[in-house]
Amino acid sequence: MDFDVLNALLRPRSVAVIGASNTPGKIGYLAAKNLIESDYAGHVYPINPKGDEVLGVRAYPSVLDVPGEIDAAMVVVPAKFVPQVVEACGKKGVRGLIVVASGFSEIGLRDLEEEVVQIAHTYNMGLLGPNIVGVMSNSHHCNASFAPFMPLPGRAAMISQSGALLIAMTVASYTRHVGFDKMISVGNMADVNFADLVSWLDQDDNIACITLYVEGFQNGRRFIEVARRASKPIVALKAGVSAHGAAAAASHTGSMAGSGKVYDAALQQAGVVRASGLNNLFDRTLALSLQPPMLGDNLMVISNGGGVGVLATDAAEYYGIPLRFAPPDLQAELQASVPDFGSVKNPADLTGMGGWPEYLETVRHALRHPWVHGVVVLFCETQRNDPMDIARAIKRAVDESGVTDKPVIVSFIGGEKVETAMQWLVENGLPTYGAPDVAVDAIAALREYARNCMSAMETIVPYQDVDETVARAIIAEARAKKSGALTEFEAKQVFAAYGLPVARTELARTEDEAVALAAQIGYPVVLKILSPDILHKSDAGGVKVNLQDETEVRDAYRAILANAAAYKADAYIEGVLVQEMAPLGTEVILGSVNDSTFGPTMMFGLGGIFVEILKDVTFRVAPISSDQAMKMLVDIKGAPLLAGARGESPRDRVALAEVVSRYSQMIMALGDEIAESDANPVLVYVEGKGVKIVDARIILSA
Ligand code: ADP
Ligand code: MG
Repeated sequence: MDFDVLNALLRPRSVAVIGASNTPGKIGYLAAKNLIESDYAGHVYPINPKGDEVLGVRAYPSVLDVPGEIDAAMVVVPAKFVPQVVEACGKKGVRGLIVVASGFSEIGLRDLEEEVVQIAHTYNMGLLGPNIVGVMSNSHHCNASFAPFMPLPGRAAMISQSGALLIAMTVASYTRHVGFDKMISVGNMADVNFADLVSWLDQDDNIACITLYVEGFQNGRRFIEVARRASKPIVALKAGVSAHGAAAAASHTGSMAGSGKVYDAALQQAGVVRASGLNNLFDRTLALSLQPPMLGDNLMVISNGGGVGVLATDAAEYYGIPLRFAPPDLQAELQASVPDFGSVKNPADLTGMGGWPEYLETVRHALRHPWVHGVVVLFCETQRNDPMDIARAIKRAVDESGVTDKPVIVSFIGGEKVETAMQWLVENGLPTYGAPDVAVDAIAALREYARNCMSAMETIVPYQDVDETVARAIIAEARAKKSGALTEFEAKQVFAAYGLPVARTELARTEDEAVALAAQIGYPVVLKILSPDILHKSDAGGVKVNLQDETEVRDAYRAILANAAAYKADAYIEGVLVQEMAPLGTEVILGSVNDSTFGPTMMFGLGGIFVEILKDVTFRVAPISSDQAMKMLVDIKGAPLLAGARGESPRDRVALAEVVSRYSQMIMALGDEIAESDANPVLVYVEGKGVKIVDARIILSA
């Protein structure tokens, strides 16, 4: 999206309100009033058919009658009139359309919405909405919305897919003391979307944190790219899960992807910090908009009570930044301000005797110490202390320390005096919360953000020893047979073309051929039915493993054919596969789906009941590097089984990670062909012994 267009939408120098009305209560009245009765410095042009004055400002029958230039037009007319209004805006040279009007795709009128976007694009206009509240910008005193209040001024920007929520947030920002410079309603996102807005907000100096309420992305991949490149923290609350129907899924991976786990993965890969709910969205926004990222894991907690210290300690572990003991020199420095019955380890406990001078000293020492990466300061209201004195001491300590690259988060617990002190702290740039665990969650968000920044810088170097031509030829052959899926035999050849370690597999069309191939491959071998009509081979009695000699191969061959005939009399039998018998190993599953939002996406989990019953799987949008794949391996609950639990030797995770990475490259490159796929099972051996794929499946896109 053209930045000129986004400038016009988000920082308009003039706004026309099309549908401006004199009738109090009407949206066209509220919209005009917000712009006219405010400090907005730009021109406001009310537009209504009669050209009546609106709130004392001259109105015009059409934008075409307006003498000056119009940057943005708010469209507040009934949906059926929107096309002609947009056409007129185009002729006038308007750049941005803020289409507040509803009655489009949200009620099934997709064609009308598309028509309007089409007209907008003919004239190089960008369209925000339709079905939105509008756009608010504190720094430009511009309330181009029908929400009655601008949010509390601050350094965050909110983009919301829900209009009602946005309006509620404007007022909630005051009670929560979380300031926003901008609030943008995106509604149906027919044109301007999250990615466009994030890229614009990223270059706006008034913004320090981008806050999202997301129901869904249209082009998830573009959002990931924009978000990864963003230089500012993005925090998102995601509502709802993707609309994958498990019924439509032909593989394990497909049914598992419907759980919202793909969104979780994609947002993490985009470097987006997550919020667990609305309160958490406010809390994390406050921290991310006021404090720097936490660049290491060493969190120092300072408190005046054991209880809150323990609560913070528990929370720190829960949120992934467990406390460590402060180094001896720091402990020695803190000793001066802590009574003998307190503690200097971490948390530092000033005890109930701790007053403002002790807070001042300890916070300053902690911040200045190179070991410390971030500080959480806790205070329980006591008889001895005025909360305001403590608040001032903390702020003074931060200022006097001269340290600006370490986050400081505060939690005060107490009554009304505490409320006042908390507000003062927030107004002075120190995020302050009413409970220690919330404060720790806030600093955890700053740690998460720093970690995200590092992983977002990783680049992916594709493997060169792959053969896409071979893979595509195999797929083309299958398509020529009118087949919607590749057989195990074909799928393994595609896998092999991407350097994936498949168990050696040959095709026998007669019993004698099977015997000859078994001798070539070497005993023991595995025999399997090969039929496009039998997807789950074991269910059909179509798999015989650990065959030791010619007699066993001959018996297995006959048994497999008989079982197949009994299972499905009209099944087309291509032959019987003869395979090397892979030694026992830890069974894992790799799979892929072509997600409707994010495109080719990888799944990994342990095999057997872990995937079927426990659904212990993790996703990543492809492609992923082997380093990223390593992280994927520890994402699942069953991870210790690969790390070597209960005295077992660790499994070859390095080899497995490479396989995951190559697999992701394959589904990316063949994204137009592969709808779903899996390698189930993949056998993982002890370190240095690699992995082996013994079964493969690829479902082609329709
Ligand atoms: P399906 O999933 O269609 O039933 P598989 O090919 O996965 O068939 O075979 C079923 C099971 O047999 C696998 O889970 C694995 O335990 C075992 N198996 C299959 N092929 C081999 C092989 N080449 N080496 C060792 N074990 C195998
Ligand atoms: Mg299988």
